[in-house]
Order: sequence, then C-alpha cells, then structure tokens
Amino acid sequence: MELRELGLFGYMKKYKHENLVFCQDEEVDFKAIIAIHCTALGSATGGTRMWKYESETDAIEDALRLSRGMTYKYAAAGVNLGGAKGVIMADPKRPDRERIFRTYGRFIDRLNGAYITGEDVGTTLEDMEYIAMETKFIVTLPEYLGGSGAISPMTAYGVLQGMRAAAKEVFGSDDLDGKKVAVQGLGSVGSSAVEQLAAYGAKLVVTDIDEARISTIRKRFDVEVTKADEIFGVDCDIFCPCALGAIINDKSIAQLKCKIVCGSANNQLEDADRHGPMLEKRGILYVPDYIANAGGTVYDTDRLMVGGLVNKERAKEKVARNYERVQELIAISKRDGIPSYRAADVMAEERIAAVSAVKRHTNTWTI
Ligand code: NAD
Repeated sequence: MELRELGLFGYMKKYKHENLVFCQDEEVDFKAIIAIHCTALGSATGGTRMWKYESETDAIEDALRLSRGMTYKYAAAGVNLGGAKGVIMADPKRPDRERIFRTYGRFIDRLNGAYITGEDVGTTLEDMEYIAMETKFIVTLPEYLGGSGAISPMTAYGVLQGMRAAAKEVFGSDDLDGKKVAVQGLGSVGSSAVEQLAAYGAKLVVTDIDEARISTIRKRFDVEVTKADEIFGVDCDIFCPCALGAIINDKSIAQLKCKIVCGSANNQLEDADRHGPMLEKRGILYVPDYIANAGGTVYDTDRLMVGGLVNKERAKEKVARNYERVQELIAISKRDGIPSYRAADVMAEERIAAVSAVKRHTNTWTI
C-alpha cells in the first residue's frame, strides 16, 4: 500500500533501502526480486521466500519490508551482517525445484557476494542445495554441505535465554523452575522450547491445532493441554507464542493473565503501535519477536564471520547472549521511557549508527 503511495524511490528513500534487484527468465518462467536494505554492518543476508503474490507491487513491498526487518534483526542481535531478502514470485508448491533454484542461484552468483541467501517461508533445505550448486553465497545448508543443519532448536534456545532475562526483571530471578509457561504451537520451535523448558523445571500448558503434535509432546513430557483458543487466558507466568503472527491483539490482550510474553512467532503484535503500549499498560513485559527469535539466524550465520566453518559450541554461546540482549533492551526501554517493542528498534538503530561511524558499505565477506 505504502509503496503505491510513495513510489519506488520515495519508499526506498523513506526507509533507507540501498538496492533492489529484479531477476527474470522467461524460459524457466522465473521472476524474483532481491532487496538489499543496508550494508552498514556487513554483507546483506536474508532468506528467500517463495510466494504467489497478488501483484508485482505486493512482491516488491514484501521484499523491501522483509529486508528491512533483517537489518534490524542482525543489528539488535549483534551480528555483523546487513539486511536483505529474496522473493521468488511463484506458487511455493511448484514442482520444478531444480530449475527454479539453480536459476535463482545463478542470479545470486552474479551479485558476487552483495547478497547471501538462506531458507524462508515456501523454501526448503533441499531447495538451498540446488542454489548451492550455482553459488557459494548461501548460508543455510545441511551439515553434510558445510552448513549448520536444522536451526529451530537454537531458535528455541535463544527464546529461552531471552525469557530468563525477562523473568529476572519481572520476578527477580531468572530461574524458570516452577514457572508456569503457556506454549502456543508445537512445531519445530515450539516442541524444542517445550523440551528445554521441561529441562529447566517449568510447568507447561501447551496447545496446537494439530492433534498429532499434541500427542507426540504428551508422550514425552508432563504437560497440561488446553484448547487452541483458550491458550491466551491460561493463568500462567509466561506466554510463549510459537505458532502464528498477529496473535497479540485487542481480543487476546484482554484475556492474558501472564506477566511476560516471549516466543518465537514472527510479527506477534497485530498493530505494533497500538498493541505494544497496550501490553505495557497491562503490566506485561513483551520481549519483541525479532529479539526473542534471533537465535536460529545467529547460530546459522556464525560461520560467515569465520571463513565459513561451523563451530557449534561457539555459535551456541553467541545464541546464549540473547540473555544480555534482553537486559540491554529493558535498560533502553527504561532509559528512554518507551515500550519494549520500540526499544528493540532503538537498540538496532544505535548499533547501526555506531558501526556506520566506523565503516560503511563493507560487503566484502567471503565464504
Ligand atoms: P512450524 O510450522 O514447525 O510450527 C508451527 C506450529 O503452530 C504447527 O504445529 C501448527 O500446527 C501450529 N499452529 C498453527 N496455528 C495454530 C493456532 N492457531 N494455535 C495453536 N497452534 C497453531 O513453525 P516453526 O518453525 O516452529 O516456527 C514457529 C514460529 O516461529 C513461526 O511464526 C515462525 O515464523 C517463527 N520463527 C521460526 C524460526 C525457526 O527457526 N524455525 C525462526 C524465527 C522465527
């Protein structure tokens, strides 16, 4: 919408976007857009989404918006990478994967490191393998190809470190033993969060819309199960959303009984400027989604900093620092008298400004 109003360059100027790359191959029926938002901290990196967009404008705006989100995510997480995103305009169920992703890989290769890609909605690790046949500028790869493999457990680990820091602020202790945590969604991240929370001794209330996932979790852990639409009203200490976006809204905020919201789901606030302050007014500490869920990408991209070699221990240590990130976030929120969702942006912007003062356009990482 905003892109239509401002025009392409108006929009890019407003949000400080650097590059927009269009890729087209008629024979392959291939159309993709690569948005490079900001290279102040390092090479522009971000996953590739495959989606059937209603219009070209929608695809461009999505690529631009998502690339900006990556800049903030890396900056706030202390990762020296810039933000970018690729979108392939196609049905994510399209079967001719090799043709699509090898074509895409060749376009990425032509950018010679200005963009490094990975997995996102509509793309799989297998698709990444096709890209890797054509370019080395790819981060998310299976372990046998030199990548970090599955990253969801590390996303969950990062969520929990942020949660512990939030607990320290709210309850005076970061010990989750005996804390009641309501987990929404038992997929890749949610199930791993349950496993790790159980190990911390947390009391768990869980839900999913997929009965099979509930029964798998029930077999492994001592959990209480609630209906999907009743999770918001559970009397608990912490709400951990690991399913969909926009779940923090007028309706759910009225039901929440928790003191902390900290989970992996992307875009949790339906309307950030309305629901961020509403949570604060209700005395609920919100750990912003892109801070809480950065663990997977911190883990995945760690090898880019050291010539491409995975070191699981070092990468995990970096994810553990999400504890300090959340402490920093809370400090900024208090310092500036702003809600936590805004403090996350300030934290990212301050880091970009600080590093920009030292160096700009440092897209010289090699893999
Ligand atoms: P997933 O698809 O594996 O799991 C999502 C789960 O949520 C599924 O089990 C699904 O049945 C359930 N669900 C859907 N709607 C629901 C509802 N209304 N109520 C309860 N459960 C519902 O996804 P994932 O990889 O675990 O990611 C979870 C969230 O975290 C997503 O928002 C994703 O964008 C975000 N995220 C994931 C990662 C990662 O490393 N996988 C990283 C950053 C952010």
